[in-house]
Amino acid sequence: MLTGGEVKNFRKQLLLWFRQFQRDLPWRRTKDPYRIWISEIMLQQTRVAAVIPYYERFLARFPDVRALAEAPQEEVLRLWSGLGYYSRARNLQKAAQQIVQQHGEQFPREEKAVLALPGIGPYTGAAILSIAFEARHAVLDGNVARVLARLGALRGDLRESRRWQSLQKTAAELLDPKSPGDWNQAMMELGAMVCTPHSPKCLLCPVANLCRARRSGDPESFPEKRKKREGVQIVLAAAVFFTPRGQTLLLSPPREKGERKPAADDVATLVSRMWHFPTVAIRKHALTELRSFVADLLPAQNGVLPFEPLARVRHAVTYRNVTVLPFRVAIAKIPHIRGTKSIPLKDFSKLPVSNLTRKIARAALSESAAAPEIRSKLQL
Ligand code: SF4
Repeated sequence: MLTGGEVKNFRKQLLLWFRQFQRDLPWRRTKDPYRIWISEIMLQQTRVAAVIPYYERFLARFPDVRALAEAPQEEVLRLWSGLGYYSRARNLQKAAQQIVQQHGEQFPREEKAVLALPGIGPYTGAAILSIAFEARHAVLDGNVARVLARLGALRGDLRESRRWQSLQKTAAELLDPKSPGDWNQAMMELGAMVCTPHSPKCLLCPVANLCRARRSGDPESFPEKRKKREGVQIVLAAAVFFTPRGQTLLLSPPREKGERKPAADDVATLVSRMWHFPTVAIRKHALTELRSFVADLLPAQNGVLPFEPLARVRHAVTYRNVTVLPFRVAIAKIPHIRGTKSIPLKDFSKLPVSNLTRKIARAALSESAAAPEIRSKLQL
C-alpha cells in the first residue's frame, strides 16, 4: 500500500499529530490494563461522550478487578443501565472472575490468555495489550479499516473475510514498533475525528499527502457502502401498573434458554434480560393480547383492570425497529407473585433496566402528576 519511505513518513506525521491534538479522555490518563479494558468494552458501539460518565461511575464503584468480580451481578448491570448491549457487562464480570481465579488478579499479558476472556475479541485484545503493555498488536475496527481503505483507495466490501485479513496484515505492517499503544490510538483517533465516514476533513488530515483516495478527488466514495440489513418492524405492548401509593410491578430478568438465535421479537432479548414491565410481542390485537398476558399473570384480577393507552414508544436495536404500546393499569395493590417485584416508581433507577424499559417508564410518567420530580430522579 505504501513504500518503505512512505511508511516512515506516515508513522512520523500521524504520531506527531496525535501527540499534539489527541482528545483528553479519562482512559488516556492511565496505563492500568483494568481501566483500559473497561473503557474499551464501554466504547464498543457507544459514543465517547456517552461513555465518560458511565466510566467514571463504574470505576468509582469497582476500582479494581476484585471489586468487580465480587459484586452482585445486579449491581454491575445497574451501573451499566442505559449504556445498552448488556451482554458486555455480564461478560465483563465473568472475565473479572476469571482474572481473579486464574491470573492472581493481574490482567494477563499473553494474547492467548486475553482472547480466552469472555467478551474480548481480537480488536479489544490488541487495544488493551498495546495501550497498557506496549505489546505489538495492531488494532483493526471499522474506523481503522476505513482509514486504510482510503489510504490505498481500496474497493470492495471490507468485511469480506479475505479482504479483512489483508487489512489486518496491512495494519500490522504499519504499526509503529516503538509506540504501539500511541500508534493504535492515533489510527483510531484519525478515523473518529478526521477521516470520518461522511465528509472526511482532508484539509486537516496529517497524512493527506500519502492518501490515494484524496488524490482520486472523491475520498468519501471509499470504502464502498455496505448493503444495510433490511429492518424488521416489531410491535410490543406493555402493562405499567400503578397503585394509589405509586407502586408498580416489574418482572424478573428472563433466564437464558440457551437458544442459539432467538426470534427478532423475543421480549427477553429486547429488554436485555433485565427487570421489565409485563410485555408481550403483538401478533394482531395489542389490547386483547396484553390483557390475556396480564390475566395469566394475575388471575384473581381477570377482567376487572382498566387499561388506559399511553403515548407509544419507539426504540431501535440494530435492525429491529420496535414500537411499544404501553398501557397504564390502575390497581389497588400489587399482589405478591413469584418472579415479580413491586417497587415505588420513584425507585425505578435502583434496578438494572434496559433503555427500552426506561422509555416505557417515561411514557407512563409523562401522564403522572408527580412526573417532573420522578423523572429527574430517574434521569429520564
Ligand atoms: Fe481520510 Fe482525507 Fe486523510 Fe485520506 S486525506 S486519510 S480520506 S481524511
